[in-house]
Amino acid sequence: AELMRKKLPQKRPINGVNHIILVASGKGGVGKSTTAVNLATALKCVAPNKDVGLLDADVFGPSIPLMMNLHETPLINNDNLMVPLINYGVKCMSMGNLITDQSAAIWRGLMVMGAIDKLIRGVSWNHTDYLIVDTPPGTGDTHLSLAQNLPISGVLIVTTGQKAALGVTRRGITMFKKLNIPILGIVQNMSTMKCSKCSHENFIFGDSVQELAIQEKIDTLFSIPLDPNITNGCDSGQPIVITHPESSQVKIYKSLAEYL
Ligand code: ADP
Repeated sequence: AELMRKKLPQKRPINGVNHIILVASGKGGVGKSTTAVNLATALKCVAPNKDVGLLDADVFGPSIPLMMNLHETPLINNDNLMVPLINYGVKCMSMGNLITDQSAAIWRGLMVMGAIDKLIRGVSWNHTDYLIVDTPPGTGDTHLSLAQNLPISGVLIVTTGQKAALGVTRRGITMFKKLNIPILGIVQNMSTMKCSKCSHENFIFGDSVQELAIQEKIDTLFSIPLDPNITNGCDSGQPIVITHPESSQVKIYKSLAEYL
């Protein structure tokens, strides 16, 4: 048993990082990166004295540079570590800031792991209280590698309510349970859409997320509506948390941040 234990990969903390929180989804396009960006900026608003980092672990489709309006290449410090780029008080690191040539975005499994390791260990995260990690969609090698190599405080699962998303979300939940990563809660994104003319609220994707949460014994569920200001915020690199700090949507992001 002693030998077995020695062979298991050791979970090594990231230098200077206190809490590592994953944001994950089964399906792509459900708003995982949007949630990660707004959560990180909301955390900085509710706890200005805390240092917040945002790591884009989606090396195939990085969206943090666009959503956080950070397009430079990071500098290297004297310790040979990359210095995170900062906007809205959040320290960010993404493969999107390291490669400009689109053809370089064709990766093999091992290269992905190497790249993620570089984004994690090759960065001066110095005094980061919360590192929010935007993971790629699905249940792949990246998640396994993160879960096996890092002490993770917990994972937030983002999903929409349609069947096609719920099935893969459940698979993701099962994976995190098997990996002993605490599931902090589910974010039901794009839950409702309010008509801008009559204020009627539509449940576009149905409301089965609650059922899933009950079945999986996850008691925390946050619902975020579909809102054009959220889309515009992402597309313009100015998150809604910054542009509409008093909106009801931002209140939800802030309560999510406070919950962490
Ligand atoms: P994922 O990371 O899951 O692939 P994204 O965060 O990139 O998804 O979101 C996909 C698209 O949906 C983006 O254009 C984003 O602006 C938009 N979006 C995400 N959540 C919302 C929301 N609650 N309201 C409006 N648009 C949203």
